[in-house]
Amino acid sequence: MTRPEMLGRLHSHRGEWDMIVVGGGATGVGVAIDAASRGYDTLLLEGGDFGKGTSSRSTKLVHGGVRYLEQGNISLVMEALRERGILRQNAPHIVRDLAFIVPNYDWWEAPFYGLGLKIYNILSGKYGFGPSKILSREETLERLPTLHPDGLRGGVIYYDGQFDDSRLLINMVATAAEQGATLINYCRVTGLTKGEDGFVNGVRACDEESGEELTAAAKVVVNATGPFTDSVRRLGDAFVKPMISPSQGIHLVFDRSFLPGDSAIMVPHTSDGRVMFAIPWHDHTLVGTTDTAIPEATIEPSPKEEEIEFIIQTASHYLHKAPRRSDVLSVFTGIRPLVTSADSRNTASLSRDHTIHIDESGLLSITGGKWTTYRNMAEDCVNHATMLGKLPERECLTRNLKIHGSHPQAHNFGHLRVYGSDAPAIQEIMRRDPQLAQPLAGSLPYTGAEVVWSVRNEMARTVEDVLCRRTRALFLNTKAALEAAPKVASLMARELGLDSRWELQQLEMFEKIAGHFRLG
Ligand SMILES: Cc1cc2nc3c(=O)[nH]c(=O)nc-3n(C[C@H](O)[C@H](O)[C@H](O)COP(=O)(O)OP(=O)(O)OC[C@H]3O[C@@H](n4cnc5c(N)ncnc54)[C@H](O)[C@@H]3O)c2cc1C
Repeated sequence: MTRPEMLGRLHSHRGEWDMIVVGGGATGVGVAIDAASRGYDTLLLEGGDFGKGTSSRSTKLVHGGVRYLEQGNISLVMEALRERGILRQNAPHIVRDLAFIVPNYDWWEAPFYGLGLKIYNILSGKYGFGPSKILSREETLERLPTLHPDGLRGGVIYYDGQFDDSRLLINMVATAAEQGATLINYCRVTGLTKGEDGFVNGVRACDEESGEELTAAAKVVVNATGPFTDSVRRLGDAFVKPMISPSQGIHLVFDRSFLPGDSAIMVPHTSDGRVMFAIPWHDHTLVGTTDTAIPEATIEPSPKEEEIEFIIQTASHYLHKAPRRSDVLSVFTGIRPLVTSADSRNTASLSRDHTIHIDESGLLSITGGKWTTYRNMAEDCVNHATMLGKLPERECLTRNLKIHGSHPQAHNFGHLRVYGSDAPAIQEIMRRDPQLAQPLAGSLPYTGAEVVWSVRNEMARTVEDVLCRRTRALFLNTKAALEAAPKVASLMARELGLDSRWELQQLEMFEKIAGHFRLG
């Protein structure tokens, strides 16, 4: 899977595509997998890198959403719990079970959360991840030794799923390509073309690497641009009523000592009524998230000072080793593509359910939802798109479609586990050139072999692609990622046949991006 090969497919394509998908996040790539596996001729164009938007910036949970249960949104919880089970079945190398503990400091919490989480487990039916249980104070502290012991009565343990969002996305891109879809990163849609009837019948796009202008025609165009949905809708009709109310959420990343066990902490009600998680992830501790309404979505959002303070304060209530600003190794910010309601000031109360909207121009937009439910969203979207584009009806096949890399024993590959069945090929690169088995930066496990692999097989085009989404270096530790950057640039330049000027440009760009992940 290389970009030149994908561009070749685009240039040699004759006639119109069945479907063009705009946006290469979880939603768009999910739609491309669904459409291609049903046999529709599918093109996906992503303006930046796959997962550059929200889909690399989630809490990394494959979950039913305990919070939605509390809000009484049973159908959403059941849908998500079913999708959680399907995803673990189809991508076991990247989705794993994780124990979550709700610590109890008040007398009513054990019966209240105990019952709620029992219902959560019952709703998962045959897709259950394990029964919930009330824990004693001692059992809770054994599993969460860094929890504040003062006033602790016990806890409730339940199970949910955890994953690596951008790694799953890259594997999904490969899955879509294997099903026959053409997917191109760094190819921004700049316009929508229309037929004599005024209906959208294709796109204009710009190859961001060469500057070449492209056009492609399709029976149906799907807008899956998440927080940017309205900007693409405006390409078809400058006066459409906005449907997205953007809200951002941040996560702080600390070292493992803040959460040394294998269990996560779930706080169902923070001081301002939100849910907060502290999660072990890639040998680090991830704490988040917030929900802050913002006026407009930007491609590289930054954390707000009050969000950082809020997370540090809340974490200090629960952890006896209270985290400080100086302990933060990285901070990342994602934008929720929430579908708008009358009161956009209170975005926390908007629905997480997905929305399919068809503009008068015939542009179909799919937005909202969650990472966890991407497959179901895609099924729904393709069902609508086939009607709109008058495509022959075909059954959805994704429930049992394995995601590229699927491997039941991937834990045997150590930190290469997330590559699943591709891990032996990366090990082979290391065997052939032992230099490439060396870590790129002292405190992270990533090696030169992964850089080489991602350039050759995963369409990595920039230093940022490698350090943000093929590996997760910048998300885990900004200092270590900056230390690794020159080696990554040099290896990539060698693979791509580029010169030292390119390396310097890349390093400059990467430093700028890293500024958004570092606390000032
Ligand atoms: C803080 C936070 C935490 C979350 N945690 C979880 C979680 O733990 N579990 C869960 O299930 N869900 C979670 N979610 C929700 C989930 O991450 C999102 O629902 C999902 O990632 C949205 O994917 P998307 O593809 O719709 O949008 P995006 O990932 O943003 O993708 C849209 C893409 O469109 C591209 N694009 C924009 N304009 C153009 C154009 N003109 N041409 C071509 N491409 C374009 C962008 O570059 C971008 O890559 C979380 C969300 C947030 C914000």
